[in-house]
Amino acid sequence: TASRDFLLAVEGLTVSFDGFKAVNDLSFYVDENEIRVIIGPNGAGKTTVLDLICGRTKATSGSIRFRGKELTQLKEHQIVHAGVGRKFQNPSIYDDLTVFENLEISYPRGKSVWGALAFRRDSEVIDRVEQIAEMIFLKDHLDTEAAILSHGQKQWLEIGMLLIQKPELLMLDEPVAGMSVAERVKTAELLHTIIKHHSVVVIEHDMKFVEDIAHRVTVLHQGKVLSEGSMDHVQHDPKVIEVYLGH
Ligand code: ADP
Repeated sequence: TASRDFLLAVEGLTVSFDGFKAVNDLSFYVDENEIRVIIGPNGAGKTTVLDLICGRTKATSGSIRFRGKELTQLKEHQIVHAGVGRKFQNPSIYDDLTVFENLEISYPRGKSVWGALAFRRDSEVIDRVEQIAEMIFLKDHLDTEAAILSHGQKQWLEIGMLLIQKPELLMLDEPVAGMSVAERVKTAELLHTIIKHHSVVVIEHDMKFVEDIAHRVTVLHQGKVLSEGSMDHVQHDPKVIEVYLGH
């Protein structure tokens, strides 16, 4: 089918909560090495879409195909295993561990219990941790306890903990919320590095940041796609202007 050509193909996706369709016959497609930003007013269904893709919420109908593989019947851990990583808004790092240790425990250890228990600090793990730490601007903070990192550094660390698992698709929920301007600029730089080897779907409210990162923007409204295309296109779409000015 045509959707095989896309990394992620969402088609006719619907979820009802007590008869209310939070996501309503939604279709969109994400390419490899693309940064797709999902925007839209509060309650548009953005978070629910990410919940559906990562398996936290089950769809009422429709399909989500990732590399042609249907995800809607899979459990959350199976979707992670298929190559989809999700970062939530609140960091879930281990405060009393160092940057190095947080990255190290996220390194995939294989499926067997013995593999998971074996404590290996071999050169392969160290190399990968250092490589990720450099990407997330924490190379000089490997021995720093996570608790004392800045808000922005914590967000980057969590992105690093996802990256070390090599997901093909990363989903990020408002990654620059609460960040300084300098941190926001560096986060955009990080995303441009990431998409050389991954694809990214981002929910974002900060329009300056959206402008810096988005290849394409999908505007959601009432669980449907209101507009889609370049930032320039959606910004000037009368339907989008109407929805945003109406708020
Ligand atoms: P957004 O992220 O765009 O602000 P959400 O996806 O959080 O929007 O919510 C979309 C709509 O679905 C909202 O009206 C919200 O109240 C509703 N909703 C989300 N999750 C649930 C749920 N588990 N049960 C009932 N209603 C929900």
